[in-house]
Amino acid sequence: RTSERYPELKRDTRFATLTPEHVAYFKELLGENGVIDAVTEPAAQDDVEPFNSDWMGKYRGHGQLVLRPGSTQEVSKVLKYCNDQRLAVVPQGGNTGLVGGSVPVFDEVVISMGRMQTIRSFDNLSGTLVVDAGVVLEVADAYLAERGYLFPLDLGAKGSCHVGGNISTNAGGLRLLRYGSLHGTVLGVEAVLPDGTIIDDLCKLRKNNTGYDLKQLFIGAEGTLGMVTGVSIACPQRPAAVNVAFLGLSSYEQAVRAFSEAKSQLSEILSAFELMDASSQDIVRTVRPDARRPLEGEHGFYCLIETSGSNAEHDTAKLEAFLEDVMEKEIVEDGVLAQDETQVKALWTWREGITECLGHLGGVYKYDLSIPLSELYQLVEDTRTRLASLGLIGDSDEFPAAKVVGYGHMGDGNLHLNIPVRRYDAAVEQALEPFVYEWIAARQGSISAEHGLGLAKKKFIGYSRNDTLVSLMKQIKKTFDPNGIMNPYKYI
Ligand code: FAD
Repeated sequence: RTSERYPELKRDTRFATLTPEHVAYFKELLGENGVIDAVTEPAAQDDVEPFNSDWMGKYRGHGQLVLRPGSTQEVSKVLKYCNDQRLAVVPQGGNTGLVGGSVPVFDEVVISMGRMQTIRSFDNLSGTLVVDAGVVLEVADAYLAERGYLFPLDLGAKGSCHVGGNISTNAGGLRLLRYGSLHGTVLGVEAVLPDGTIIDDLCKLRKNNTGYDLKQLFIGAEGTLGMVTGVSIACPQRPAAVNVAFLGLSSYEQAVRAFSEAKSQLSEILSAFELMDASSQDIVRTVRPDARRPLEGEHGFYCLIETSGSNAEHDTAKLEAFLEDVMEKEIVEDGVLAQDETQVKALWTWREGITECLGHLGGVYKYDLSIPLSELYQLVEDTRTRLASLGLIGDSDEFPAAKVVGYGHMGDGNLHLNIPVRRYDAAVEQALEPFVYEWIAARQGSISAEHGLGLAKKKFIGYSRNDTLVSLMKQIKKTFDPNGIMNPYKYI
């Protein structure tokens, strides 16, 4: 069988098809509460559908069974059975992933972590948090806030995404600039291999140089090696003072200058530096017409700068001096500082809201790229020129593409190139791929800065990883998952 949606993919005949006997086993193991079954109860298909479809509504599978284990032991038994029976599975967290990795392609069994939501322990002295993989990021952060700590990752999907999903995608988010990557902050992982083996590496130590650091393999594996069931992570002290400035600038070159000044003038308190072009802000204004605009005039680019420190007076003075300086030097055209926490949140919505607002037109082609800073925005311009020269972009309905939008975590050299479209269109896709990937490869960038490869970028791994690396990845996959049941059809 080939997929209607992905005609180039064929269902792997090594995998078994679900039977009522399989379903009976899972119901016996997990109880009625732990199984959503449209195999023997077709009326339940509506309940399965949300697990088949991704956040963007772009990827849709044909799964008929969702398993919701409540403990690591249950995950182990589920996976062992699936492995023995050759049933392919898809791990699913909050299902906010943006590359089609979290949903089935054909009839894979979804293993949802939504019932594993226990905060296992917190050490108030070291700041080490241990949680089940299914804990929602915002819940973990709220728990830490009450104790004066902070989860070292924040992103627009925090209300839905799971810590296990964050680890599995190696999510970067809004404050990587300050708190670093999960490869550094995650201290330990508990995971289950397809044969049911529980890997207990829930280390809570900052330092542990004893042989290969195998937990790193699960950080960013996108569910292809095993299920992550528990995470231990080093959390920093919550900053007492958080300030936000929102700037309007005339050009990308000025944004680069502002970043350079921010690094030198704000140094240790700088916690985020985000870029938004005019198109991205137009889209937020269109979708949220009642939202109060941070700045009155029109600017080509906008930057959001956040500082986090321990002394409000000192930090405010520093940020004010910075703003004065960059306006005097005519780097920045206009700027505003949040006066209280409500304004801090309001300013952040102009950055965090972009992803959601982009989806309102119909569809979006999304690219999440690492590019040397000096050339970061050039790709947006080149993509605009390309789509215009092919007659694919314009203001009226006759054109499939509406805009080319650039925004992202500028402080990390990470551009989100987005092309909102009125309808998904083969000509637009062919104009973008492999053009975008070739552009990136020519500059030694990365075709996936933080969202991963999933199904969306499966074919393109070679633009960022050479044959030797891909072949080593395949060997690791074989060692962990010899029957290939973990998230098949995706990038490896
Ligand atoms: P899912 O979407 O459910 O799964 C993602 C992948 O991980 C899939 O391949 C899945 O199979 C696997 N997986 C999930 N849980 C497990 C597990 N327990 N064990 C093994 N494999 C598992 N990403 C960023 O990096 N930075 C951002 O700033 C950012 N902003 C976003 C903003 C919005 C509005 C949205 C919708 C998404 C954003 N993302 C961002 C992408 C996404 O939120 C992150 O990738 C997030 O980490 C995914 O977590 P999840 O629980 O939703 O995982």
